[in-house]
Amino acid sequence: MSRTHGGFGFQLTAPNKPLHLCELPILNPSPDDVVVQVAGCGVCHTDVAFAYDGVPTRHALPLVLGHEISGRVIAAGENAAGWLGRSVIVPAVIPCGSCPACRAGRVTICRQQFMPGNDGDGGFATHVLVPFRGLCPVPESLPSGVTLEMLSVVADAVTTPYEAIRRANLGAEDVTVIVGAGGVGGFGVQIAAALGAAVAVIDIDRERLDLAARHGASLALDASTTDLTGLKAAIRTFVKESGRKSIGLKIFEMSGTPAGQATAFGLLDHGAYLGVVGFTPKSVELRLSNLMAFDATARGNWGCPPDQYPDALQMVLTGKIALAPFVELHSLAEAPAVLDAVAKHAVPRRAILQPGRVI
Ligand SMILES: [Zn+2]
Ligand SMILES: [Zn+2]
Repeated sequence: MSRTHGGFGFQLTAPNKPLHLCELPILNPSPDDVVVQVAGCGVCHTDVAFAYDGVPTRHALPLVLGHEISGRVIAAGENAAGWLGRSVIVPAVIPCGSCPACRAGRVTICRQQFMPGNDGDGGFATHVLVPFRGLCPVPESLPSGVTLEMLSVVADAVTTPYEAIRRANLGAEDVTVIVGAGGVGGFGVQIAAALGAAVAVIDIDRERLDLAARHGASLALDASTTDLTGLKAAIRTFVKESGRKSIGLKIFEMSGTPAGQATAFGLLDHGAYLGVVGFTPKSVELRLSNLMAFDATARGNWGCPPDQYPDALQMVLTGKIALAPFVELHSLAEAPAVLDAVAKHAVPRRAILQPGRVI
């Protein structure tokens, strides 16, 4: 059985402490596990919530964070031997496959799920030990401009909005509003546009809005200069001029901020649908009865079932989702500073930690 020597990672030892450089233990895969040599690991606001907002990880600290992982399988348990040497994306949520939730097809709410960086050591590391169930194979030959480390963001920032949009049955007859054009929303905009929907995007950052407008959004609204009444009026006009369905607006909250959530909820109209994609541990005050008054629907999703990953990956490989303009690569050694910058909303793109990258 293979051993992993000289691996290192960045642990959270206690909330509100900088991530701590640690040596990894020797990783010996059990029959259903693999060791992945990390090519890249995206930094998510859920990591920030663990590190700074007091959200407890399910596994006790210290714990290596990071759940948005791509890499190569360098050791495999006996049931996973076929994966040895392959490039993979590790799903952010790995269901057990056999519990009542999994058997009922609700795999993302599996209570025995494994989420790297939450249920065990994650991907802010040179190597990670994960179950082989649900691994998404990545072809060896990638289109130009796409690299294995960049594909790490498929494991959450792409697949979570993908699943939210899939559940909403978004199609070419729909108008959608994406609230938040950051690390998740930038991909949400592209997925919605690829499905043919008319896409409006709302953010408070001009640069993000411009980028979204170049990648599928037909209307970009700046919530730092337009109040809710103004946003509603602009969207009503957009719906009218879009030539799409005039009822049943599909709104997706992808900012993971209380302000974004209040805006998304405030846009609800008759028959509207609200997909809650972004995460914040903070509360917002809402008039929940608007759901009733508007005969509206609100729905959330915890990640994405692994069986949807290949389709989401395909959208990247066929150029329907551009990664390069929406990500930035950093050396793994910079993990503490990068997480800090993400917490301060000082990183406009999705940050990826890359063990193979020298500062
Ligand atoms: Zn995440
Ligand atoms: Zn299960």
